[in-house]
Amino acid sequence: MPKYVFDFTEGNKDLKDLLGGKGANLAEMTNLGLPVPPGFTITTEACRHYLKHQALPQGLDAQIDEKLAALEAAMGKRLGQTDDPLLVSVRSGAKFSMPGMMETVLNIGLNDESVEGLAAQAGEARFAWDSYRRLIQMFGKTVQDIDGELFEDAIEEAKQHKGVSDDLDLDAGDFKALVQTFKKIVRDATGKEFPADPREQMKQAIRAVFDSWNAPRAILYRRQERIPTDLGTAVNICSMVFGNLGMSSGTGVAFTRDPASGQQGVYGDYLQNAQGEDVVAGIRNTVPLGDLERIDPASYAALMDIMETLETHYRDLCDIEFTIERGKLWMLQTRVGKRTAAAAFRIANQLIDQGLITLDEAVSRVTGDQLAQLMFPRFDYAAKRHRLGHGMNASPGAAVGRAVFDSYTAIKWSRSGEDVILCRRETNPDDLEGMIAAQGILTSRGGKTSHAAVVARGMGKTCVCGAEELDIDTKNRRLVAPGGEVIEEGDVISIDGTSGAVFLGEVPVVSSPVVRYFDGEIDPASDQADDLVRAVHRFMQYSDAARRMNVRANADTPEDAARARRMGAQGIGLCRTEHMFLGDRRALVERLILADTDKEREEALATLLPMQREDFVGIFAAMDGLPVTVRLLDPPLHEFLPDITELSVRVAVAEARGEEHEGDLRMLQAVHRLHEQNPMLGLRGVRLGLVVPGLFTMQVRAIAQAAAERIREGGRPRPEIMIPLVGTVQELEIVRDESIKVMREVGEEAGVELDFPVGTMIELPRAALTAGQIAESAAFFSFGTNDLTQTVWGFSRDDVEASFFSNYLEKGVFGVSPFESLDVDGVGRLITLAVQEGREARPGIKLGVCGEHGGDPASVHFFHQAGLDYVSCSPFRVPVARLESGRAARR
Ligand code: PEP
Ligand code: MG
Repeated sequence: MPKYVFDFTEGNKDLKDLLGGKGANLAEMTNLGLPVPPGFTITTEACRHYLKHQALPQGLDAQIDEKLAALEAAMGKRLGQTDDPLLVSVRSGAKFSMPGMMETVLNIGLNDESVEGLAAQAGEARFAWDSYRRLIQMFGKTVQDIDGELFEDAIEEAKQHKGVSDDLDLDAGDFKALVQTFKKIVRDATGKEFPADPREQMKQAIRAVFDSWNAPRAILYRRQERIPTDLGTAVNICSMVFGNLGMSSGTGVAFTRDPASGQQGVYGDYLQNAQGEDVVAGIRNTVPLGDLERIDPASYAALMDIMETLETHYRDLCDIEFTIERGKLWMLQTRVGKRTAAAAFRIANQLIDQGLITLDEAVSRVTGDQLAQLMFPRFDYAAKRHRLGHGMNASPGAAVGRAVFDSYTAIKWSRSGEDVILCRRETNPDDLEGMIAAQGILTSRGGKTSHAAVVARGMGKTCVCGAEELDIDTKNRRLVAPGGEVIEEGDVISIDGTSGAVFLGEVPVVSSPVVRYFDGEIDPASDQADDLVRAVHRFMQYSDAARRMNVRANADTPEDAARARRMGAQGIGLCRTEHMFLGDRRALVERLILADTDKEREEALATLLPMQREDFVGIFAAMDGLPVTVRLLDPPLHEFLPDITELSVRVAVAEARGEEHEGDLRMLQAVHRLHEQNPMLGLRGVRLGLVVPGLFTMQVRAIAQAAAERIREGGRPRPEIMIPLVGTVQELEIVRDESIKVMREVGEEAGVELDFPVGTMIELPRAALTAGQIAESAAFFSFGTNDLTQTVWGFSRDDVEASFFSNYLEKGVFGVSPFESLDVDGVGRLITLAVQEGREARPGIKLGVCGEHGGDPASVHFFHQAGLDYVSCSPFRVPVARLESGRAARR
């Protein structure tokens, strides 16, 4: 029979799978000789058995009885003993922390007799009856599923009856009466008496904790956090210690370093004469932990010793829950604590200097997501700020603008040059344009997976959502803060997407020192660099040395290319050419599309050629010596033509007035001809190159001529020509052969040898499935995971992200958008296949990725494992990709 119950002396911190995080760490502290109230842990294995069979495993009761007997012997009192009862808590504790998701019951062991014993022992009748009513309340709510409000209302009534407003003003008699009321609530709700047998109380509480694993909120939480559903939870049975036994007792939380800044020192809160839940419920104000030194110097000194022991032992920041019972310190919990991004970098760096961890280990403890957070501009902390309220930090950044309350105004005002913050109760797909126009988005409803949050993150736009304390009144176009301030439309506000704070007026914004370091403005060896910049520098150097993959950037202007290079890019992995055909040049493209004769078309192309050449000269110069992958034109042609509705109206009006409209009519016919129901799946990419004669060859000629010019100037251009949206090798071959021909021609004209690689994007499922054939004709592959995700899932990003994605995220269909983080099971599988078959067909073929996933930490790890040679991402994400490639390689 499996061992289902472990005494705290039998476990250790590495047994989290079996004992859960809390149980494993309680055992670890026990074995370190720290003052942990004795107890035992029921394993996750027992929970899994229970959930599968809806019955406790055979033998579990006997094992519990055995451990309980040992506990009673150690404590010198028995559960339910009438003159001096042992009381225990029953707490959940899964492998991964699931804050507030599962159940806890305290004070198990009290009944009508033992409550008197407890009162006598403690010399405190009020305390004993308060503990008893807490037991019935928690047990009723969590074990017996009784509406918690019934209990709350009864307490409220008792206070009203007595004419007091504070729990502390209720005395023993009041609680004694409340116990009777609570028991009646239980009787009415369940038809049974509250169980007086402590062992029965314990048994039911254990079942309730097991059951809480499958509570709807826990299921949803796991889905969103990607915690496996089949782990189950452990149950910790711990002898009770009481922080509510008078002013020499209390309870607190502590951190071994500041989890916000990472600075060393004493951080935490303490509350005298209280139990843990009271701190959370905020019934009274806590005092800073430092005050404990004055209140109870001996306990304070003991706590400081323990904190040092824990830090040295766990070699990391720990957070702690403790209770002092009449001057005796007890440790109730510890774990490696959560921290902000800045604290993560600082602490990892400090721990190296303290000799507690290696540089390699330090790098494993900081993430690309944290680095990205350090790169957002932020509000100047030194500036005077007036805070209006607070919501959820849904999408980081610092945004300032005039408050507007509908999308239409957001668009109108932003067109006339105003920065605006779009304030809505919640957003929906109709708000999309307004969201694009705004500097930031503020909502009063909805969580981190709400429409506003999802779409804002997708756009990289600052967002604070679910700021419930702000009354956003869109009808009257104003916002009322809890402090009574009224913000009318047009008033300036500042929102902090990194912290969730909302401020009145314009708060000055400062650029991140980390970005200034990456930009070369701060020398990490100088005094200008603070400890955060020095930590970042140290970890980046290590990662750069460790990584196997190169990191390139997606850039299509010389300025972006130069910036990417400063950020550490080793080339351009995707130079899109779409924007080069917009603006003033749009008219030329129209001419190209509308050309009736070869001559007209050639003229249009000949005018475009020198412009394209100039584009490339600048980019090749900025990336001199490094590869630049130029992608030939991709988007559907109609994107270059006027809007069909506007044009139809113009033609109709002209017709009605009898005005000349020959040009517009021709254009309208072309627009109709090229109109597509699903442009994403229509005439774009290589299809366009094959259908519009001369278009791709003009682009290749421009690339070749630009390269020749750079060579003449003494540069070292390294262009690579990339064909988009290839589905079959034949498409690629036609374009490749033409490209090679053009390069030769240009080379001969210029008197230099031009032989640049021609490769393809792999961004359609068919391309991935036939990668072996395609590799025969491709010098390189670059995975276009944006389109590959669209086509594998069969949804168009533009349509779905703003419409139903937030719904899918809320339902937990996916924990994160597959456009944000690569869908490893689906899209990833195709990539793995294409890598394998591509390399078999052409050993040494260069493989990269240029979809947005190239800058996403989790995806970078997958690309490393899949064996890609490089990732390419937006210039700003280059440091993130460098760090994560290094972290992936060190694993
Ligand atoms: C892609 O599809 O991943 C890609 C990089 O191309 P685009 O985003 O320009 O379609
Ligand atoms: Mg694409």
